[in-house]
Amino acid sequence: MGQNDSDRRERVLIVGGGFGGLYAARRLSRDDRVDLTLVDRRNFHLFQPLLYQVATGALSPGEIAQPLRSIFRKRPNTTVLLGEAVALDPVRREVGMSDGGPISYDTLIVATGVRHSYFGHDEWAPDAPGLKSIDDATEIRRRILIAFEAAEREADPVRRAEWMTFVVVGGGPTGAELAGALGEIARDTLKRDFRSIDPTHAQIVLVEAMDRILPPYPKGRSASARRQLEHLGVTVRTGTKVVGIDDRSVRLDVDGVEERLPARTVLWAAGVQASSFARVVADATGAGTDRAGRIVVGPDLSIPGHPEIFVVGDVAGQAWRKDRPVPGVAQGAIQGGTYVATTIGRRLAGEPTPPFRYSNRGEVAIIGRLSGVTDIPWLGPFGRQGGFIAWLLWLGIHLTYLIGFANRIVVVTRWAWSFVTHGRGSRLITGQPLLPPIEEPEPPATHGGAAPPATEGRPEPSAKEAGPEPPATEAGTKARAMAPTLAPDPPA
Ligand SMILES: Cc1cc2nc3c(=O)[nH]c(=O)nc-3n(C[C@H](O)[C@H](O)[C@H](O)COP(=O)(O)OP(=O)(O)OC[C@H]3O[C@@H](n4cnc5c(N)ncnc54)[C@H](O)[C@@H]3O)c2cc1C
Repeated sequence: MGQNDSDRRERVLIVGGGFGGLYAARRLSRDDRVDLTLVDRRNFHLFQPLLYQVATGALSPGEIAQPLRSIFRKRPNTTVLLGEAVALDPVRREVGMSDGGPISYDTLIVATGVRHSYFGHDEWAPDAPGLKSIDDATEIRRRILIAFEAAEREADPVRRAEWMTFVVVGGGPTGAELAGALGEIARDTLKRDFRSIDPTHAQIVLVEAMDRILPPYPKGRSASARRQLEHLGVTVRTGTKVVGIDDRSVRLDVDGVEERLPARTVLWAAGVQASSFARVVADATGAGTDRAGRIVVGPDLSIPGHPEIFVVGDVAGQAWRKDRPVPGVAQGAIQGGTYVATTIGRRLAGEPTPPFRYSNRGEVAIIGRLSGVTDIPWLGPFGRQGGFIAWLLWLGIHLTYLIGFANRIVVVTRWAWSFVTHGRGSRLITGQPLLPPIEEPEPPATHGGAAPPATEGRPEPSAKEAGPEPPATEAGTKARAMAPTLAPDPPA
């Protein structure tokens, strides 16, 4: 802890205003022994669990983000700065910014989250965007909508089928939710919007290397999620590894046999790695990192040998169970951020600090419009739901989390309305390229009839599934837990 004298407050610097940084900041901003600075390279806190709702046109970007400055406007001891941390000098206790002078601290909290990992295949990134930011979400939305537009105008049945095939890589919660939302869009939302194509014939393929989707869930819940996805027309391919991606296809490896799946839209939900600032921190402090580059922390979430530097949330490799670290979920970050803020307060008061204990609040995933799966251990048998009740639990949890957002009532009303009316109102195509490269444009349709099934001429993916255990994906090991207010003992 920093060299406090009686009239100087502890300078706490938080890098990252996601769940971990925000919850730490909320608590520290009420502590008048602290001078708090919160730095983020974005000027808003992003509610990532609803990102795919933006990607699939159910919500607009502004509805799932809140300016950090406005959250702390009534906290005089808190300074919010827009900037990117790029350097760390642990001896001088300074964090260097990409665009200016360093920021000094007595105590540092690193909460910079994770980014996508293409498992050493960064060349796949342009053809398979992942979902992590507002920009990612609007880009994915653009690609999905453009694909239907291009299929509507493409005369060649093989190329039309390519546009009408969507592949989601990674059967973790994000992949399953994305695939379910795509199934719903194709079979419900868009079904009357086109004249030359029938959107209900879109092929949506969810590819997972492990032998089941949602691996962190009990087997029964994984099976339930699979059934629900198949009901929405999603082809679930487990035991299938992606070995190549380009702008027209995905190459799959099933039991050592390679297969080409033509598809124009590929979405990546398979892997994560620690944010680049984690590498900077590890190099500067000598901290260890795990396979995904997460910083290995001690029992109090500080870096061994650097009690003044804490790491929380997705970027921290926090021990939990013998065979499993704290999962990369909002609850892990919220609990970590809250714990560290409390620990700093206790240190300032000269009190002992107990070690961090992660409390598993359960896992929820939504599949399509009105169904989902849950595994919330503390609710007993009721916590293992599938279908509509699971969806209701998911809704309750997310609504609870939206509390604190000024426009939450508007969001909730609009969102609920879009669910009731089957609409996805935010379907604007923005960004570039605006017009898809249509190779054989079809003349405009003059009547309302849909064309023959859009799958004509496209090789069907093999139905063969589940081979020998393939390498695990990060998404496959990611569980999600967001039930704090339903839990008996929520963090403050
Ligand atoms: C699509 C999607 C859906 C999800 N759904 C769920 C769900 O349903 N339930 C659930 O529990 N979890 C879900 N998660 C996971 C959850 O969102 C994360 O676990 C959580 O956001 C982690 O919080 P964090 O504070 O560690 O990191 P983040 O929330 O990622 O925040 C990191 C912050 O650090 C900032 N930053 C990064 N580098 C720098 C730098 N160098 N300088 C300054 N600022 C920097 C970033 O701008 C960002 O604001 C989902 C995640 C995604 C991507």
